[in-house]
Amino acid sequence: MCILALGVLVVTSVLVFAMFSRMNKFQTKEQMSNEIEDISAALMHMNENEIYKYISEVAEKNNSRITIISKDGAVLYDTKDEPSVMENHRERREVMGAMKYGKSFVIRYSTTTKMRTCNYAVRMNDGSILRISYVFDNIYKMVQQIIPLILVVFIVVIFFALLMAWKMSNKIIEPINGIDIHHPQTDFIYKEFNPLLKRIGKYNNERTKNEKLRREFSANVSHELKTPITSISGYAQLIQNGMVKPEDVEVFAGKIVKESDRLIHLVDDIIKLSRLDEKKNELDKVIVDFRDLCTKVWESLQPVADKYKVNFEIDVNSVRYIAVELMMEELIYNLCENALKYNKPGGHVKLSVRRDGQFVYIVVEDNGIGIPKECQSRIFERFYRVDKSHSKQIGGTGLGLAIVKHVVEYHEGKIDIESEENVGTKITVTLK
Ligand code: ADP
Repeated sequence: MCILALGVLVVTSVLVFAMFSRMNKFQTKEQMSNEIEDISAALMHMNENEIYKYISEVAEKNNSRITIISKDGAVLYDTKDEPSVMENHRERREVMGAMKYGKSFVIRYSTTTKMRTCNYAVRMNDGSILRISYVFDNIYKMVQQIIPLILVVFIVVIFFALLMAWKMSNKIIEPINGIDIHHPQTDFIYKEFNPLLKRIGKYNNERTKNEKLRREFSANVSHELKTPITSISGYAQLIQNGMVKPEDVEVFAGKIVKESDRLIHLVDDIIKLSRLDEKKNELDKVIVDFRDLCTKVWESLQPVADKYKVNFEIDVNSVRYIAVELMMEELIYNLCENALKYNKPGGHVKLSVRRDGQFVYIVVEDNGIGIPKECQSRIFERFYRVDKSHSKQIGGTGLGLAIVKHVVEYHEGKIDIESEENVGTKITVTLK
């Protein structure tokens, strides 16, 4: 607002001065034209002595300078200087004009007076030139006088501009400061704000949902940890109290080892998940060769395949993909381990990775126990298990597929599942 006010003021002042200067020039010319006509008429009837007296009086009265110049440019009379010391005036623009056209008006810098002057010259009947000059400083004097006034106007304008800006911004800001950030209304006074408020509302919902999930997760974690610890403690107490026959101690110790293994497995998975939650943006992606990765997983899962008496086969081309290597390994490992675990003796598991155009497909197929239709949408939830006791028995934590989901989301891929109970399961991960 201040800059605008300043701009308007400067432009207006310049325009006013320009107009005023034009008008002033025009008026001066008119005035001088009348004056010079009167003087030249009066001079016609005078002799030499009277001429000088007359022009001196007129010049003094009007605060002007009057010069009479002969046909050849020599100065005959001048009311300021001694004609004999003055140079020839033939070359003066107004003199040349008057000689040629009869009369001439020129504003120029005078070398004699060292000032800007208005000059009006006419050719008289005898061919000599009569010239009047005025020092032309009116307009600059006026500018000098008016500048303080403009400054005062400017200060007043700035003051009001600031006052208005302050009041207006307060008025605009007030409703914004009043927004209830936890429950933003979408019919806000400024409709331009609605997208932002909607986003805040969505963010609040997501936060509430995430908080709920986190609380549930903590409760689940405590519960899941408590079960094996309670068993371990129970078995150990039985042994401590001598309630286990010596020949059964080995069996109970075995149970304790199994539960502790479960516990370790569980804690491992929880740590992996929370690392994934935390380090979302920090992990380095590298070029992963799926053939090497799958061979590694295949080798490490051989004991599991043997244990469940399942045939485990891989069919992987050398597909390269930019990914977080450890995450990818975890993903393939978990999918294959599930396919082996939830299988039947003599069953079959096939891991294949292929590339088709822009996409890489990781497919794990088994002909195991399958997943009931109604559970398929839930198996990626943390701690969700179709058959809790079965899963526990084979050492499941309910976190494997949650980790898989996390990894797929991190790599902006998608995961599809086809499964039928007692027929088998096919899980396909598609990465772009
Ligand atoms: P878990 O540690 O129990 O294996 P997951 O998150 O890996 O947990 O899997 C969740 C549940 O999904 C499992 O408990 C199991 O019931 C079911 N599931 C996963 N993969 C398969 C599969 N290939 N065949 C049958 N059921 C499966």
